[in-house]
Amino acid sequence: MIVLKFGGTSVGSAEVIQNAITIAWSQADHAPVVVCSAMAKTTDTLVRLAQAALDGREDQVRRELDLLSTLHLDALAGLTSGETRSTGQDLIQNLLDELSSLARGLLLIQEVSPRSKDALLSFGERLSTTLIWLACVERGISAELLDSREFIKTDEKFTEASILPQATQEAITARVKPRNNHLIICQGFIASTMSGVTTTLGRGGSDYSATIIGAALQAQEVQIWTDVTGIMTTDPRLIASAKTISEISYEEAAELSFFGAKVIHPSTIQPAVEKEIPVLVKNTNAPEQPGTRICRTVKNRGIQAITGKNGITVVTVQSSRMLNAHGFLKAIFSVFEKHRISVDLVSTSEVSVSMTVNRFEPSLEQVIQELQSFSRVNVEPDHGIVSLVGTDLWKEASFTARVFAALRDIPVRMISLGSSDINLSVVVPQENLEQAITLLHQELFPQGEKG
Ligand code: ASP
Ligand code: MG
Repeated sequence: MIVLKFGGTSVGSAEVIQNAITIAWSQADHAPVVVCSAMAKTTDTLVRLAQAALDGREDQVRRELDLLSTLHLDALAGLTSGETRSTGQDLIQNLLDELSSLARGLLLIQEVSPRSKDALLSFGERLSTTLIWLACVERGISAELLDSREFIKTDEKFTEASILPQATQEAITARVKPRNNHLIICQGFIASTMSGVTTTLGRGGSDYSATIIGAALQAQEVQIWTDVTGIMTTDPRLIASAKTISEISYEEAAELSFFGAKVIHPSTIQPAVEKEIPVLVKNTNAPEQPGTRICRTVKNRGIQAITGKNGITVVTVQSSRMLNAHGFLKAIFSVFEKHRISVDLVSTSEVSVSMTVNRFEPSLEQVIQELQSFSRVNVEPDHGIVSLVGTDLWKEASFTARVFAALRDIPVRMISLGSSDINLSVVVPQENLEQAITLLHQELFPQGEKG
C-alpha cells in the first residue's frame, strides 16, 4: 500500500481537490490511503475563531463562521451535482452546525481550554475530508471516509498530543484496510485519547499522521503532496537560485525540518525511519516533477541544504565556583527539563554554558529565575540559528574554512559542529540571519552547479 498526504493548499479549492483526487486515483493499483489537511487557511480561521470566542467578540465569531461556511459550501457546489450534492449539503451543513454550536458555547462562557480548542480545530480536517470523499462519489470512484480519531491514539496533551504507539498500531491495523482500486480517505492532524476525546498533533501535524499510518501498514512509500517542488537547498523566497534536492537522508531531512525548513513537520520522519519507508515530497501543481526522496542512504555527500530560524534566545549560565564540579550541567538541564523547555544548541567553556531556546517558551522566565538561584545568568534575545545540513561535512578539510570566510562580516555568537556530523549550526543576531544564509548559499551552492 501507499499513503498520499495532501496539504492545505492541495485541497484549498474545488479545482485543486480534483487534481489531488486525480493524482491519488492514478495510483489506485497501489492500495492508496489518502490523508488530508484542512482546506488552506481553515485552521488559521479556527484559531482566530477560538480567540474571538475567548474575548467575547460575537461579531467576529459570526464572521469567521460565515467565512468557513462559504468556503466549504462553495467547494461543495464546485465538486458535486444532483443527489450527491444534496447528500453533501446535509453532511457539510451538519458539521458546520456542530461547529457553530461549539463556537457559541465557548463564546457564552468566554473560555477556550486546550481541550476545547482541539475540538474546534478538528472541524477543518473533518470538513475537508468529507468534501473530498463526496467529490470521489461524484466521480464514481470507489472511496471510503474514515475518522482518524478512531485509530490515531494519543495522550491528553491537548494541542500537542503525543502518540501512543501500541494502541495506534493496533487500531490502524484493525480499522484501515487498504485495497486496490479503492481510496481510503482520512484526516491528518486529528486524533483522540484512549477515552475518545479529540486531540491534535500540533500545527502542521498532518505530515506526521501520514507517516504514522504508513509505518503501521508497512507502506511501500509515503507521498507528501504540497505546493513546492520538494525540499530545497534553501528557502526559495529568500534565494531565487535555490534548487530542489533530489535525494536526502532521514537524518538530514529531520535536521532540516527541526531547524526551520517548513516543507515537512519535524516529527514526520521518525515513524518512517523505524520501518525504512521512503518519504517522497511532491508538488501537486507539477506532479511530473521528481520532487525529493527521503530515504535511508543517499549517494550525495557533503552539503545538502541551508536553513534558518529566528526567534532564538541565547541563555548563558556562568559560575566560576561550580562549573568544574560534578553535576553542574545536570543541575542546569534539570531546570529546563522541569519546565519542559527543550534546548537546541549547547556550547560550553571552562566557566560558562551557553544554550539556545525558543523565545516563545512560556515558562522561560521561571527557568531563568531558578538558574539565577545558583549561577549568574545572561539572556540575549533576538538571535537566529543558521544550520548547514549534509553528510560527512568535515571530511572535506576546506569546508569550515569556506563557511567562516563567507561569514567574515557577521558576528557569530555561537557555533555547534555537532557530533552528528550532519549539522553545522551558527547562532547570529536576528538581523543578520538572511544575510548569513545568502552568503553561505552563494559560497556553497554556486550558480549553475547542482545542489
Ligand atoms: N490543518 C493543520 C494546520 O494547519 C494541520 C496540517 O495542515 O498539517 O496546522
Ligand atoms: Mg504542512
